[in-house]
Amino acid sequence: MTPAATGVVRRARFLQALGIGPVWVPRQSVVSDEVPLPATVAIAVPAVPPVAAPVVSKQDKAASAWDDAPAVRAPAAAAPVLASPVDEGAAAIARMSWQELELAVASCTRCALCKNRKQAVLGAGDQKPGWLFVGEGPGHVEDQQGEPFVGPAGKLLDNMLLALDLPRGENNYLANAVKCRPVGADGKDRPPSADESAACRPYLERQIALLQPAVIVALGKVAALSLLGGDPKIAVAALREHTHRYGSIPVVVTYHPAYLLRKPLDKAKSWRDLCLAAQAYASDGTLAV
Ligand code: SF4
Repeated sequence: MTPAATGVVRRARFLQALGIGPVWVPRQSVVSDEVPLPATVAIAVPAVPPVAAPVVSKQDKAASAWDDAPAVRAPAAAAPVLASPVDEGAAAIARMSWQELELAVASCTRCALCKNRKQAVLGAGDQKPGWLFVGEGPGHVEDQQGEPFVGPAGKLLDNMLLALDLPRGENNYLANAVKCRPVGADGKDRPPSADESAACRPYLERQIALLQPAVIVALGKVAALSLLGGDPKIAVAALREHTHRYGSIPVVVTYHPAYLLRKPLDKAKSWRDLCLAAQAYASDGTLAV
């Protein structure tokens, strides 16, 4: 099997895991004597048409963060900013190296989440990535293992990555809006509060400055709000299907894998969001899919 055919078949498997497809494609597009896909059917691989480089018009720049302006928009809060003009800690974080960042996060007490963590989870992956995926915060398993996105939601994210031909850690970096596990009064995982996200935002900002990704995918509302600001009452559904901006970096918002495990019918929507992100990535001149 040729490398191209191998890639098609591999992606088909992960799209199948995402519950997407099949659709009809030309028989000769998948030639395999190893994988018994149906003779005339392959799994849907939505086309990612070439797009022009995103252009932010004056009109778009003037648009509010969450209006319905089409395509690329520049939310007012998108540019990296320090958590507070008098936040000296944030100013110091903004100058940190990776090593300093890791040490600072490991011993951070900027918010109350430090009290219950076993360990902070800064992130993991390629430190020169094309793609940055941002979730909300570590859960119980991540807190125990010190890795982002492990457990069932992590496995689903791995499948989403592989559908983009992005093995975990290769040309991608995984991070969260907060680096310590938010624990509810019942002892279970919970989303971070707005204050906790704000306290941790300088670390995310510094990570992005060091990573310089070509595209960012915000997984869920907490990540979207941390990156873009805006109305906390906004639904993820209202943020999807647009290319937002963090500074000059395109940001696409989609559902968190944990949500997709609860609402598997929305996996197809999430795949469309990833295709939109792939378009933004392609427009950067480094097409991956
Ligand atoms: S969540 Fe972030 S700000 Fe809060 S203690 Fe952990 S590293 Fe510090």
